[in-house]
Amino acid sequence: MVATPIGNLRDFSSRAREVLAQVDVIAAEDTRVTGQLLKHFGIGTPMISVREHNERAMAERIVARLAAGEAVAQVSDAGTPAISDPGAVLVAAVHAAGYPVVPVPGASALTTALSAAGFTCPHTLFYGFLPPKAKQRQDALAPLAQQPHVTVFYEAPHRILDTLADLVAAFGAERTAVMARELTKTFETIRRAPLGELAGFVEADNNQQRGEFVLLIDAAPEQDAVGDEGAHDVVLAPLVAELPVKQAVALAQAITGAPRNALYQRALTLKQQDDGD
Ligand code: SAM
Repeated sequence: MVATPIGNLRDFSSRAREVLAQVDVIAAEDTRVTGQLLKHFGIGTPMISVREHNERAMAERIVARLAAGEAVAQVSDAGTPAISDPGAVLVAAVHAAGYPVVPVPGASALTTALSAAGFTCPHTLFYGFLPPKAKQRQDALAPLAQQPHVTVFYEAPHRILDTLADLVAAFGAERTAVMARELTKTFETIRRAPLGELAGFVEADNNQQRGEFVLLIDAAPEQDAVGDEGAHDVVLAPLVAELPVKQAVALAQAITGAPRNALYQRALTLKQQDDGD
């Protein structure tokens, strides 16, 4: 499993280049993309195409090649294979067949962005890509908003504005976030700001809507995190007792400034308690 650069070709390790030059065949996500990289470094190793849709069938063929004594390297278009990229199916098949899997580490947008984010929370959830459809995306975000860990998303340029808007709605405009765009490339932008400000910054500048993105959201503040459940009960409980949950949450959010999702989850619990009495 050989990592390739995520932009800057000087991030290609000498070990990665050596391995790619020495193996019998390179399993590449897109042979045209990898072909350019290999050409640049004068590597002539033949390639086969392993994409998401043929990964299972190709895994069998690759295991057969290993059985025949060949060495096979897997790469993706950029970064570390098997991280929001094909590779895991092949790795599992190779483990199952009893052959060694050797990682050759290097760039990944995940670790590159995280290293420049400045979050002190020691726990991180790597989510990868959110669902492309708004409803599914919002549903996916709801349970993440109040977690006591940093959350990392990959995003494509055509969805960046919609996703930032959904992140603001779910995590609150005040939550600290980092946008890491075009990492290691000419127009690299790393911006750390409250989510609402970040969304405004990207919206105001077309250039900031281009390229590749990692979005990192800081952990929920302790008083809002799941676990410290009663933090806003003094406001929320009487509202829930008198009003429909949605209305109670909207008012409690206006009064306390706490994130909507934390209030909503807590309101549901309070409502259940009320109904049980
Ligand atoms: N396996 C790769 C890795 O380890 O970095 C990620 C592959 S995934 C299909 C591609 C996504 O990674 C992009 O849509 C973007 O979210 C992120 N990404 C890749 N390169 C990037 C870069 N140079 N700057 C920011 N994000 C990047």
